Amino acid sequence: MIKTIPLSKPFIGEEEMNAVRDVLRSGQLSLGPKVIEFEKMFASLIGVKYAAAVNSGTAGLHLCIKALGLKEGDEVITSPFSFIASANSIIYEGAKPVFADIGENTLNIDPGKIEEKITKKTKAILAVHIFGQPCEMDKIMNIAKKHSLAVIEDACEAVCAEYKGRKAGTFGIASVFAFYPNKQITTGEGGMVCTNDEKIHSAAKMLRNQGRKEDGGWLSHEAIGYNYRLNEMSAALGVEQLKKLKKILEMREAVAEKYNEKLKHIKGVTILGKIKDTKRSWFVYVIRLDKNIDRKKIIEQLKAEGISTNIYLPPIHLQPIYKKMFGYKEGDFPVCERVSSSTLALPFYTQMADEEINYVCEKLKIAIGKSG
Ligand SMILES: *Cc1c(COP(=O)(O)O)cnc(C)c1O
Repeated sequence: MIKTIPLSKPFIGEEEMNAVRDVLRSGQLSLGPKVIEFEKMFASLIGVKYAAAVNSGTAGLHLCIKALGLKEGDEVITSPFSFIASANSIIYEGAKPVFADIGENTLNIDPGKIEEKITKKTKAILAVHIFGQPCEMDKIMNIAKKHSLAVIEDACEAVCAEYKGRKAGTFGIASVFAFYPNKQITTGEGGMVCTNDEKIHSAAKMLRNQGRKEDGGWLSHEAIGYNYRLNEMSAALGVEQLKKLKKILEMREAVAEKYNEKLKHIKGVTILGKIKDTKRSWFVYVIRLDKNIDRKKIIEQLKAEGISTNIYLPPIHLQPIYKKMFGYKEGDFPVCERVSSSTLALPFYTQMADEEINYVCEKLKIAIGKSG
């Protein structure tokens, strides 16, 4: 009997527990060797020169915006179909997020809609690899080059995703990864700023640590910084998760493939398609429901069967605060809104068992049958 199936679940074993216990025993709970080890491993995994650990993906995005010197009066072009933190990070520094609509298949920012949004104020493009699907980076980098714009990658959902054989997070001037418990790997809370740019890296390291310089004193502050440091327990957890990452990504892909097989023949359900030249890193498992299906009812019926689902993701521009601040309204980004109103995230986690996948698919089929 299956009682409840959560939307996500971390994949934690004895190794993680022992590593965290060792840190606790050591007495060094912050600013220790584990953060450095985690950063080194992560930089080499992604293939960048520098990685700076921070205590959330949001903090990492904020540091990128700040390190690039973006400020009031500047505009940054980004996707309205994302977790809200990607756009918020721009607003933290007083700059303005300017949305460009998404592509119906990639669900990422549509490169063909970027140039019409460029003004004299535009300074950067913040590309979000949503659901672990890499953006069309060739096109985005070409536009950026032509207009002298910086590119930041929000790779928070895309660890080890690939575009034309190259890892997400290696295209822009800086990129950010995240380790909240629903991500592919977790540190409880945490993030990583990756870059090949020495200046951005040192700015990120200074700003995450109250504006302290690496070689300066504890009570000497060169900038108005933040406490965005990752603690040692989290870093130790991260190190163990990284050791398992290859296996984790393979297991997640296998779960996704089983879902695909089961769901591709269910009427009313569209599975996310494969996009040429790219390799998705499986973050969430999202389907699209036909317009005539009452998504709310499906969610309720699945909930009654113990199955958690969610509407990933509502458009950022239609969040109450964005409507209030920028005057956005329904119809502004029709593709995003159409996608948004049809998506449903199903339970998805590394260790998801076949019987759990089958159970979800069976109950989904019944719920759709009732709604048709
Ligand atoms: C998870 C995530 C973030 C960062 O989230 P935190 O909870 O702050 O770590 C940013 N952008 C996207 C697209 C995400 O999915």
